[in-house]
Order: sequence, then structure tokens, then C-alpha cells
Amino acid sequence: MTDEELLRYSRHIFVPQIDITGQQKISKANILVIGLGGLGSSASLYLAAAGIGTLHLADFDNVEISNLQRQIIHNTTNIGLNKAKSAQKQLQMLNPHINIIPHDQKLSFEQLSQLTASSDVILDCTDNFTARDAINRACVMHHKPLVSASAIGTNGQITTFDLRDLQSPCYQCLFAGDEENLTCSQAGVLGPIVGILGAMQALEALKIIAQFGTSLTGKLLCFDALSCKMRTFNFERDLSCPVCNPK
Ligand SMILES: [Zn+2]
Repeated sequence: MTDEELLRYSRHIFVPQIDITGQQKISKANILVIGLGGLGSSASLYLAAAGIGTLHLADFDNVEISNLQRQIIHNTTNIGLNKAKSAQKQLQMLNPHINIIPHDQKLSFEQLSQLTASSDVILDCTDNFTARDAINRACVMHHKPLVSASAIGTNGQITTFDLRDLQSPCYQCLFAGDEENLTCSQAGVLGPIVGILGAMQALEALKIIAQFGTSLTGKLLCFDALSCKMRTFNFERDLSCPVCNPK
């Protein structure tokens, strides 16, 4: 690590649970962020700031003016630009020492599978069931940790599926049959909620990479912005799950 990197990351290195060893793991890590909306904005800013070695950013949408109330990685001058490319510009200014690779086309399952296989942690920051289902299947296939969050209206939720452990539940175990496709564009969402949940996704990823603390594996954390209360519910693997336990 160079002197400049030691200085840049010093406030993480001072945290005893991270230290220089944890920072070195962070610098070697490869993380895939899918969706550069509200959750992905906040998550990828913290991951880039932390010095994650390689960030793959996947989003085929373009920045629209209605995104800017919450998707804080984008700005007014980038309206019309692809979100993965807009995010890359912002993150590279924040941290020029890391590799940031944008994917601006819709990923086929084959491409998603390949990217998943080469990543250490996958962040699902999308807003629809079809994408979430495909990401889950790729993570189950390659036994990769998946950090999944969502937010709508005045509520948000987050969990981690640590699929390196063959006994871990997957997204389908938790949300089987829950294919409701209400998105922020239809229902609205309070801006800071996606920021909070995205920052928590970055936190979960850092914990997995630098191996400290306890992840949200098997726990769904629900945040209610109106009362500022967080509640955590335990859940288990569904032994009849068609994705992680096909017979
Ligand atoms: Zn499952």
C-alpha cells in the first residue's frame, strides 16, 4: 500500500476490526453492483470511497430528471447518459485508484452468470422481481454472497444471503410467490430511505470482504422511516425451494 493509500484509508485502518489486513482485503475485492438507482448510488459511493479494488456497475437505464431526488450519484448534467457510465464518472472522481467497469447493456443470464462467478460479493440494487430472481439464481449457482435491499414509500428492507454456505436460504426461500412489481416510479419513495439502505448494503459487503462482525444472513431488517424503528425478523431456508434445493 502506498503512502497516499495509507492516508486515504487511514480512518478505516484505525478501526481495529478492519486494520491494515482488512484494508488489503478490501483493495483486492471485486464487487458487482446491479442497479445504479437510489440504492446503488449510495452503496457504490461508499464502496468506491472504501477502496474496493474492482467495481462492476450494471444498469441499462439512462438518467432522468425524476431520478435526481434520490439517486445521488447522478447529476443534472448527466441527464440522458447511461446510469452505469454516469456513476463511473462520479466514482472515478471520488477514487481514481480503483477499477470501475460499467455495463450499459441489459445483461443476458449468461453474462450475469459470468460476472457473478468472478465477483466476491453481489449487491442487488434493482427494483423488479424478474431481475432479482435472475440475480438470485446466478448467486445460488456460483455460491456467492448476495446483499439484497429494497425500498418503497416510507419503508425499506435489507438482508444478506451468504450462499457460500450451502445451508443458507436464498431470495426465493424468503420471497416465494411475492412477485409484486410496484416500483418507486409508480409508488414514490422518500429519498433518504434508499440512501440509508444502500449504505447498509455497502456495510454488509465490507463486513463480508474484510471478515468482521456478523452479517444479516437469515435475518430480514425492516426500517420504518415514520417511526425511525428498525426490526429484524429471522427466516430459514425453504427445503422445497425450487432455486436452491431443486429435486
Ligand atoms: Zn431458496
